[in-house]
Amino acid sequence: MSPHLAAWFAGAGLDRAHLAIDLAAVGARYRALSAALSPTHIHYAVKANPEAPVLRLLAEAGANFDVASRGEIDMCLALGIAADRLSFGNTVKKRADIAHAYAKGVRLFAFDSAGELDKLADAAPGALIYCRLLTDGAGADWPLSRKFGCADAMAEDLLRAAHGRGFTDLGISFHVGSQQTRLAAWDAVLDRVAALYDRLAADGIHLSLVNIGGGFPARYRGPAPDPIRYAEAVAAAVAARFGSARPVAVIAEPGRGLVADAGVIEAEVMLVAEKGDGDPRRWVTLDIGKFTGLAETMDEAIKYRILTPHDGGPTGPVVLSGPTCDSADVLYEQTDIRLPLALREGDRVYILGCGAYTQTYSSVGFNGFDPLGCSCV
Ligand SMILES: *Cc1c(COP(=O)(O)O)cnc(C)c1O
Repeated sequence: MSPHLAAWFAGAGLDRAHLAIDLAAVGARYRALSAALSPTHIHYAVKANPEAPVLRLLAEAGANFDVASRGEIDMCLALGIAADRLSFGNTVKKRADIAHAYAKGVRLFAFDSAGELDKLADAAPGALIYCRLLTDGAGADWPLSRKFGCADAMAEDLLRAAHGRGFTDLGISFHVGSQQTRLAAWDAVLDRVAALYDRLAADGIHLSLVNIGGGFPARYRGPAPDPIRYAEAVAAAVAARFGSARPVAVIAEPGRGLVADAGVIEAEVMLVAEKGDGDPRRWVTLDIGKFTGLAETMDEAIKYRILTPHDGGPTGPVVLSGPTCDSADVLYEQTDIRLPLALREGDRVYILGCGAYTQTYSSVGFNGFDPLGCSCV
């Protein structure tokens, strides 16, 4: 945890779980990622953390934005972010929302089906539209697979069809899966994009955009790549295929990799207990759970690092639980989590790497537990 956040928590006197975002850390990560990825331009994926101070800071630093809904578009516009800095990256959009975005000046839209192309031809004529490729998300801790994208041959057909319908600015996008730690995942899909580029170019259809999506990893439990070295390696993989040989604009849409490491949640230990059922593990219940911000512990996919006041002392295995009366509200039962034996009711613990996909995943108040609060400091 940064000394800045530690000092903020020390003075905050919180009585419930709360997320704090170190804005200076977001700014520093943006500048470093931006330099590492250059000339690829960053479109921050707003869904990772849509707090106004985060969006404002990134807008001032020069970022563009990937938005997925009318609500996210209006949020950016209300902050004074120009519509031509937004890409509407959800491949399935309501026709009325496409028209709304287009009327406001949004000119970048994703699609991955004939039905969506029909909507764009109707509601966003002349926009730059990009077709998303299916990826399997292998190697990613939060795969995003299956739901988005189409097979390469179908993407080629769709882009030819779009060209035939008068769209002259066309592109391809993909997402390698969120928290993707394997660099090889990028090489494989970039090769597919380059092959598609060449097949279309042979028929006089020259793509103007490649959108390499997000997936840049944050630091959770276990080994993690250095985020900047990782981005440099992705940039090299892009440069090897695009650039003078295949001239296109390239954009990236980091969400997690930009904001996750800047956020810390303070939570309170509500109880340390045993079950008396022969399982030697203690059950540790926190005042935050799956429904109040830690949704990404679903299937124990994202494994957060946790600091306690007793770190360094002897530890033992635990099952980590959330506060609600829903038996699904267990954070880690399969994962080998060890916490200090001295841990007790009332202790404050700090969950690291929580700047992305936490507070907006929080329920509005399931079981009477408040949604996760957030302070940008
Ligand atoms: C969620 C999302 C992102 C961000 O992904 P991260 O893994 O958080 O970097 C980028 N692009 C699109 C289209 C998304 O839906």
